[in-house]
Amino acid sequence: EQLTIADMKKMIEENGIEMIRLEYTDILGINRGKLMPVSMLEEIIHEGIAFCIASLQMSYDNDIVPSRFISETCEDMKIIGDPSTFTLLPHCEQTAMILGDLYFGGAPVEQSPRGFLKKMVEAYHAIGLDPIAASELEFYVYNKTTDGSIVPYTNQPATCYTVNKRIDPKRFLYQMTNTFSKMGFNVLYMNHEYYPGQFEYNWRHANAVRAADENALFKSMSKDIAELNDLMVTFMAKPKEAPGGSGCHFHVSFNDLETGENVCYDPEKPDGISDTLKHFIGGLCKHALGITPFLSPTINCYKRYQPDSFAPIFIGWGYDNRTTYIRVPNERGKATRMEIRAASAASNPYLAMASILAAGLDGIMNKIEPPEVVTTDLYRDISRQTQALPTTLSSSLDALEADDILLDSVGKELTDLFVKLKRKEATEYKKFVTDWEWMTYSYHV
Ligand code: GLU
Ligand code: MG
Ligand code: MG
Repeated sequence: EQLTIADMKKMIEENGIEMIRLEYTDILGINRGKLMPVSMLEEIIHEGIAFCIASLQMSYDNDIVPSRFISETCEDMKIIGDPSTFTLLPHCEQTAMILGDLYFGGAPVEQSPRGFLKKMVEAYHAIGLDPIAASELEFYVYNKTTDGSIVPYTNQPATCYTVNKRIDPKRFLYQMTNTFSKMGFNVLYMNHEYYPGQFEYNWRHANAVRAADENALFKSMSKDIAELNDLMVTFMAKPKEAPGGSGCHFHVSFNDLETGENVCYDPEKPDGISDTLKHFIGGLCKHALGITPFLSPTINCYKRYQPDSFAPIFIGWGYDNRTTYIRVPNERGKATRMEIRAASAASNPYLAMASILAAGLDGIMNKIEPPEVVTTDLYRDISRQTQALPTTLSSSLDALEADDILLDSVGKELTDLFVKLKRKEATEYKKFVTDWEWMTYSYHV
């Protein structure tokens, strides 16, 4: 919903808001921003605020890469607030927040993750479709101990859907769910996941940009709320010593832009799935390798792709099949949709969602038939294991660089920056010897 300046001012006044935070999501999926007095509101929305463009090329270790990936002289870009994202921050007294879009020299910054997603949504609008999405985000919560170490928040035999007081001793989940629902998030539900200290948050469906905005905000804000409770949250795909990984499943469907009808449903078809959704799935299966670095952007993400983990290893799709890359849940009618299970919780939701849309668009435009449906356990059915997901970050980057159709949608500037940042990460990791290697080999070899 598009708020006017007057609407925002009214909310600011009625709630005694004094500060506003202008935020954006970088390439890695980390939210960054500046805090300023609310008197800056009009400037944020009309002119934008200057930020150093080098902030887009930061790596996890905060190294501003000497080779200047994005710009020779590291000038300022402008970030302009998007009025549809203005919200009060219930956990942060007297503070409001707004997400911004990135501009340089008056034009959108090509490397902007949110910009890439908006571009893909426009490409769908051009063919009369509105992409609808919902994410399911898994994460681990830890207690911070006085010696600086961490222990799972639910250090009990809690598992999937456990619901007693032990799973939320500090009412952290309560506070999170409450905060997000007050912020107008499309909250669906929160539950304990399979392993101690692991949780999942589910959203109701929304337009694709809104879905990604809420996903990115959820990550940065849950870290804040955890901090307020002396807890730590991680979206690492496979945290240290964790028995299972954290995924980020995306549910996607399409509404007819004019009628608002879900075009994924076709009652004439025996399985109720329209050609549009079939072709979308066809495109995803075709470009599955190439989009992997956007769905699994860290070294660690590839440790999540394990047999029987409910994270996929092989490409394929099935009706309500949790062993495949794509699951088509059983609901039909206006809830007809598909779920892609490959993205890790560590993915940048804008890049993940946009690359999924890019892959599927090729399928829709070129009527790509998906492979034959998988009705067996794909972790075990060798006869159907025809194509596997990449097992390392480097090989998934190779797959992206070999996919011309995808590169065309992502654009040269964003691809270059993303690939350079990620290649650097892979190179650094290669020099590092893990605890496992030392423990396993040092004595015997
Ligand atoms: N944790 C699994 C993953 O890594 C998903 C489990 C589930 O199906 O909810 O994707
Ligand atoms: Mg789950
Ligand atoms: Mg799911």
